[in-house]
Amino acid sequence: MSPSDPQCLFCKIVEGKIPSRKVYEDEEILAFHDIHPWAPVHFLMIPKAHIPSMAQVEPQHAALLGRLMTLAPRLALQEGCNPYPAGGFRMVVNTGAEGGQEVPHLHVHVMGGPRPWLKG
Ligand code: ADP
Repeated sequence: MSPSDPQCLFCKIVEGKIPSRKVYEDEEILAFHDIHPWAPVHFLMIPKAHIPSMAQVEPQHAALLGRLMTLAPRLALQEGCNPYPAGGFRMVVNTGAEGGQEVPHLHVHVMGGPRPWLKG
């Protein structure tokens, strides 16, 4: 898996070639606000390495994705989601065309905040 794809929008964000409103960054993970939020809190968490989607995830990515998932609740609270259980948040990973994925760089949507943004 290539660490970076020069054509990839989110790789360009990782490299600072396209600006983003950062939520969190370390050597492996970047989180930034979604440009078109559909919840009061809506940010994206991505591996910095170019993994196109969940369909390309390999056993070697387990630690990275484990870190990303365990970081998400802390960032959700930091960004204004209300605490569990009255608050909470939604995490979504669209995968492939039929999964609704528009940007082919693995990303986790983290969304929350006061309703009524969430239906169902
Ligand atoms: P969908 O658009 O159906 O949610 P994805 O799951 O691929 O598809 O999500 C891509 C997300 O990336 C969208 O929510 C979109 O608003 C966001 N996005 C696109 N360009 C940028 C950008 N430059 N900065 C931040 N977020 C972006």
